[in-house]
Order: sequence, then C-alpha cells, then structure tokens
Amino acid sequence: MNDDVSKLIEVCNNIYDRQLVSGKSGNVSIRLGDYIAITPTLKPINGLNEKEIVLVDMDGNSLTNGDPSSEVGMHLGIYKKRDDINAIIHTHSPYATGFSFNYEKLKILEDYSKFYNINLSSVDYENPGSKELALKASEKIIENDALILKKHGILCAGKNLKETESLIIFIEESAKTKFISIMLNSVKDIE
Ligand SMILES: [Zn+2]
Repeated sequence: MNDDVSKLIEVCNNIYDRQLVSGKSGNVSIRLGDYIAITPTLKPINGLNEKEIVLVDMDGNSLTNGDPSSEVGMHLGIYKKRDDINAIIHTHSPYATGFSFNYEKLKILEDYSKFYNINLSSVDYENPGSKELALKASEKIIENDALILKKHGILCAGKNLKETESLIIFIEESAKTKFISIMLNSVKDIE
C-alpha cells in the first residue's frame, strides 16, 4: 500500500475514533504532487481501504474509480491558494461546531486560539459542497490554518497530515474546555 495513503486512512480512523466525525460526515485529503488523494463521498470515513481513496487532479477529474467527497472543490481551492499546504481535514467536531452556531461565543473561541498562536478565523455560511463555500474558504485560508465554517464545521490545513490532525484535535479540545468554562460561569453555586 502507498505509504502516504495508508497514513491518510490511519488519520481517518483516528478522527472517527475520537468522535470528531460520525456517520458519513467529514473528509480528509493529502497533496501527492500534481494530484490529491481524498476520501470518497457518501461513505463513512472509518474503515476505508486504499482502493476507496479517490485520486483527483487539480481540475477535479477523478483518476481512479469512485467519486470524491462533495467538498473536493473546497480542498482543491485551498491547495491552489497555498503551496505550503499538503493536508486538509474537515470535520463536524461537536463542540467546535456548536460554537459555529453562536457567533458571539465563536469570537471567544477565536480569541482563545490566538492565545495559542493558532490562526483561526470563521467563514460565513454557504451550502456544504457549494462553489461559494469553496471560494470563501480558499480566500480565508490565505491568512489562516484553521477555519470555522459557520453553522457547519471545522477545517484545518497544514504542511503535513500529522500536524493537521493535531490541530483539529486541539481545536476540539479548546472548544470543549471553553464550553465547560462558559457553562460553569453561567450557573450559580448551590451553597
Ligand atoms: Zn461538512
């Protein structure tokens, strides 16, 4: 098995086990020279085999059997904007995605991330899989490595898959911590 693709499959299984994705949501890709390897559409991200990973050229043409994730346009748009990006992970991580529905609290999460030198910004809502979302996300990625897609989910991009995976795990942990602190500060002590 191609080593890069086997690592991609391993990361897919990890983020599924960590419950950052569930069902058929989420997608992961890596850059392999002039094309990308991306998870397929309408299949759970865990337990994939090498044949199910779809190779796509930079114009979006599939080079293997199967259809790529419906967000392939967003992935390609981002790779085209930044040469230094070699891996992209998109999830619907529950805590961070929860923040994406509350724009006031989302600002708190953005500020918290800045504290850790993470360039996190939000992208206005567009339909999942749409050209509009691909365009907005690829514009925002120029200055950022992590995006909160409003009312949708999270996207991280990095120079390799391991770093990108760490970032998306860290963002969910940050969101969970922030959520707990907001909840604790909102309840009165019983004593
Ligand atoms: Zn999504």
